[in-house]
Amino acid sequence: MEKIKEGSVDIIVKKGDITEEEVDIIVNAANNRLLGGGGVDGAIHRAAGPSMMSECRKIGYCPTGEAVYTTAGNLKAKYCIHTVGPIWQGGFKNEEKLLSNCYINSLKLANKLNASSIAFPAISCGVYGYPIEEAANIAINSIKKFLRTYPNNLKEIRLVLFNDTTYNAFYRALKA
Ligand code: ADP
Repeated sequence: MEKIKEGSVDIIVKKGDITEEEVDIIVNAANNRLLGGGGVDGAIHRAAGPSMMSECRKIGYCPTGEAVYTTAGNLKAKYCIHTVGPIWQGGFKNEEKLLSNCYINSLKLANKLNASSIAFPAISCGVYGYPIEEAANIAINSIKKFLRTYPNNLKEIRLVLFNDTTYNAFYRALKA
């Protein structure tokens, strides 16, 4: 685990399974149709139970880079924010801006929901194929930009990484 302070907010990078985090908000790396699937999305829905999927079905769609929320079912969180990362297509399809938007829009929504703590997975770093080092830098820089730009009530932002490769990349980005 590694931690820095940005203003009064702790930014924490840790290894782990995001479904076990105790935070106000768990962020899901969803797909546009909010249908669940593999990776972290599947793990979050399995841990949350069926109520989350039925809320997702009602919402129906989320554009790439945007964020929506549901309650968190059996997770130890108040809400789950579902954000849709870009699929890596070589870097010429606005991927960087879209990935940054995922973090910024999730944090804006978390603040609206009065959250003081939030946990993110490594959005787009699995089947969506984003280069890990770049994704890690975008994540950390977007979080810092949010904290410097928008008044908010957050106390703790956690990045929960599932394997050594992503953990090491996010650790380096945090310490850069
Ligand atoms: P995407 O489609 O956005 O790439 P994935 O779920 O395929 O989403 O992968 C995103 C990241 O989430 C990957 O780094 C993957 O290793 C990680 N991941 C998978 N399961 C979990 C979990 N239970 N907790 C935290 N991270 C997870």
